[in-house]
Amino acid sequence: MRVYISVDMEGIAGVAHEDQTDPTEPRHAAEYARSCRLMTAEANAAIEGALAAGATAVTVSDSHWLMRNIIADELHEAAELISGGPRVHSMVEGIDGGFDAALFIGYHARAGTANAVIDHTYTDRVHEVRVNGVPFGEVGLNAALAGSFGVPVALVSGDRALATETRALLGEQVEAVVVKEPLGRHAARSVAPAVARRRIHDGVKRALSHGHAPFTVASPVTFSVEFARTRMAEMAVLVPGARRVDGRTVEYTHDDYREAFRAWRAMYSLAATE
Ligand SMILES: [Zn+2]
Repeated sequence: MRVYISVDMEGIAGVAHEDQTDPTEPRHAAEYARSCRLMTAEANAAIEGALAAGATAVTVSDSHWLMRNIIADELHEAAELISGGPRVHSMVEGIDGGFDAALFIGYHARAGTANAVIDHTYTDRVHEVRVNGVPFGEVGLNAALAGSFGVPVALVSGDRALATETRALLGEQVEAVVVKEPLGRHAARSVAPAVARRRIHDGVKRALSHGHAPFTVASPVTFSVEFARTRMAEMAVLVPGARRVDGRTVEYTHDDYREAFRAWRAMYSLAATE
């Protein structure tokens, strides 16, 4: 059994504020370094759970911000590490490699969710992303990309809001491990990191003991991306085939989810340029 693990940081136990997840600001360097250790330890808990369930190969994708957060020499030796970017498939780069299941660790709720720790969807430039009319966060966007390669998501971990979003979109069969209760965008009541690791380890072992169905999106696939500002939509619509549907919203349609996902990557990246 081959297992793919995508690891973000906002949904890690003990992380509550965006400053703790920021690799770019020297003022937060000490807090950020602690978050990297917590993130690496939760990745290890997932790897050990996968090995206990019979995994023979594990790939870990560092999926937060600059994608260079996991401390390589503290990562379990059974796993390979994908880090750095940019990467076409971003948080699930390499998911085309013939995996039996994917695990999303340290994930968070989509942009605009009430009472959710550091809610966002890939970037704070985006208010909402709808795929065929349904709001998707990172869980949905990445699960559908995995699903396009026939890889099901077996487990997610993060705060209560992430668990609720995942069950609503992917169904009850996906194991959703809750490691903290959100008290707002920048506040949480978290279990101890050691408790979170046990929950993740045991959850992964349980989740991988039975089959899961890949999450797929019906073709044709339309991404509707509502940006924070009109200026961002003006840049995003430069993607060939994209169309402006209102002041802040750009749409893109393709038969193939992966191509639509590439267009989404291009749209929010262009939106960052002034
Ligand atoms: Zn994220």
